[in-house]
Amino acid sequence: MSNPMSKEEALRYQRQVILPQIGEEGQKKLQRSRIFLAGLGGLGSVSAYYLAAAGVGQLRAVDKDRVELGNLNRQLLHHTDDIGKPKAESARRKLQNLNPHCRVEALHETLDDDNGDLLVGDAHVIVDGTDNLKTRKILNRVSLKKGIPFFFGGVDGLTGMATTFIPGKTPCFECLFPDGTPDKGPPGVLGPLPGIIGALQALAVINFLVGVPHGLLMSRMLYVDGATMNFKMIEMGKNSRCRVCGADLP
Ligand SMILES: [Zn+2]
Repeated sequence: MSNPMSKEEALRYQRQVILPQIGEEGQKKLQRSRIFLAGLGGLGSVSAYYLAAAGVGQLRAVDKDRVELGNLNRQLLHHTDDIGKPKAESARRKLQNLNPHCRVEALHETLDDDNGDLLVGDAHVIVDGTDNLKTRKILNRVSLKKGIPFFFGGVDGLTGMATTFIPGKTPCFECLFPDGTPDKGPPGVLGPLPGIIGALQALAVINFLVGVPHGLLMSRMLYVDGATMNFKMIEMGKNSRCRVCGADLP
């Protein structure tokens, strides 16, 4: 467990280990961490890439889709010669090649109400790389049930948003989106937007794992408007009538 870093690892991570917020202790924490990621599309491609590169110990990712040509403007883990392959397989190959020290388990499966608990397992964090309300609600409920922080990200057109839901400490996903909007057809999306949001999610996860307490976007939603380059932070409160975490349940 507490094996000293090899020479190769020390070199690989040297530029982050010299940061006072990381250090060797932080790097060891990353190496002991287990990540669950739902979705290997635009958001998940980027968050998975940075988390694997940073040296997280285990990354379990689930995606039921196959790579399509229309994904490639933004889903950076997948290349032209991956078209038709499961995203899980395409992603696993790239991530494992990027960092062989990270144990990557990528599953070509649908996450649903029945298998959510099992798939998330004993992960330390849940990362949202999905594009639909239904899966996010499942992840939110697993997060609350198991007390696992849930790193949310969403993109629509030229806008994006990110926050972190910490059970017992912050609002939950359904406090903010109790009913949500019905999932419409696929929105337009420009690659850098999921890139920005996925990178923010990865950063918040790393901050959480190494213990940078103000770097988590707790009870704050960061909105990014790519058309005006405005970034704004909105404070968020818990909804006491929330049907999954509220205190005033009937
Ligand atoms: Zn709630």
